[in-house]
Amino acid sequence: MTIFSKIVAGEIPSYKCAENEQFYAFLDINPLAKGHTLVIPKREVDYIFDLEDDEIAAMQVFAKHVAKAIRQVLPCIKVGQAVLGLEVPHAHIHLVPMQSEKDLNFANPKLSLPAEEMQQVAADILKAYEAL
Ligand code: AMP
Repeated sequence: MTIFSKIVAGEIPSYKCAENEQFYAFLDINPLAKGHTLVIPKREVDYIFDLEDDEIAAMQVFAKHVAKAIRQVLPCIKVGQAVLGLEVPHAHIHLVPMQSEKDLNFANPKLSLPAEEMQQVAADILKAYEAL
């Protein structure tokens, strides 16, 4: 079971931003920017491009809705999207609110935000997502 499957199962805590039957979104614990969110399929698949055609299409639509919610909550020019997957073997899309292209550089030092702030941001994104 991957660490992300444990998050979906509620065995490991996460800052939940959105959820539907197939997908789950939560804050990255080492964010590039405030509101940096990960979108994952609940089904455990390592490589995103091994997902079924309909599954990856639905995941992208879910990510689009989460990005919309993020942009409503966090002032940013656009929400950037990236796929790496070199660290955690469970497919995921990074959604990062951007003020400039530098914000999507994964070599940047990561932010360390207080738990209360992470909680508040996640709650705000979840509320915006549910109101879409
Ligand atoms: P990568 O697999 O290279 O796309 O990177 C995995 C990402 O998952 C990194 O940005 C980590 O900060 C993030 N991450 C790892 N464990 C957790 C966790 N328990 N909760 C939230 N984010 C995590």
